[in-house]
Amino acid sequence: MIVLKTNEEIERIRTSALMVSKTLGMLATEISPGVTSIHLDNLAEAFIRDHGGIPGFLGMYGFPNTLCTSINNEVVHGIPSNKPLKEGDVISIDCGVLYDEFYGDHAYTFAVGEVSNDIKELLDVTKESLYKGISAMRRGNRIGDIGNAIQRHCENKGYGVVRELVGHGLGKKLHEDPQVPNYGKRGSGKLLQDGMVLAIEPMVNLGTHRVRQLKDGWSIVTGDEKVSAHFEHDVAIIDGRPEILSTFDFIYDALGVIKKDIVIK
Ligand code: MG
Ligand code: MG
Repeated sequence: MIVLKTNEEIERIRTSALMVSKTLGMLATEISPGVTSIHLDNLAEAFIRDHGGIPGFLGMYGFPNTLCTSINNEVVHGIPSNKPLKEGDVISIDCGVLYDEFYGDHAYTFAVGEVSNDIKELLDVTKESLYKGISAMRRGNRIGDIGNAIQRHCENKGYGVVRELVGHGLGKKLHEDPQVPNYGKRGSGKLLQDGMVLAIEPMVNLGTHRVRQLKDGWSIVTGDEKVSAHFEHDVAIIDGRPEILSTFDFIYDALGVIKKDIVIK
């Protein structure tokens, strides 16, 4: 069942989403060769609790940590560890917060130091595809329009779009209906309406779209060991149009990146 949100509820989700955005911005300054993902996890948990939030992933379905930290060929659901990051790695950090009864859930893939041009392009294209998907999230379109926009943009570049893991509705539960695949047919699936809040989250591989799960019961890795990227925003439909509730601005500020204006027409 899809739970539509009032504008007041959407503002509360925005507050939770922005707490995640600020957490990711804080982490952006910490990521460098030699740092461990468990250190990042500890920092994130303290930051969220200091801001009055509850780590949204900790204990969810039995997950042991605040962050999902997925390195290189890990797609999502990586468990923080004491293995140091290396120059040229990428780390996808997915973070959830529960605050004032509502969840925020968003993710960014960071380069550790300098990465290869192939990987840079994967990160850029995956992030672009996120905004392509968001642009399709408007009243009167359907869920399949979102996935189709993401899939076409990534497959044009020869990348693999992960099928087994999908975006989702977001609200008082971390994962609500509907599921939001990153692939699909135009005009298929549930109708999009005002008050829907969705976590849009392309998971895109440099090589094959196939994935498998590690024996830890969590980490999803690519079938060919090539690198994967993951970017996620929380988005509401207000007055027929997509409104992004989370932001990468805190990350861009931390990294000194000049923001590219993303225009949602
Ligand atoms: Mg997430
Ligand atoms: Mg999500």
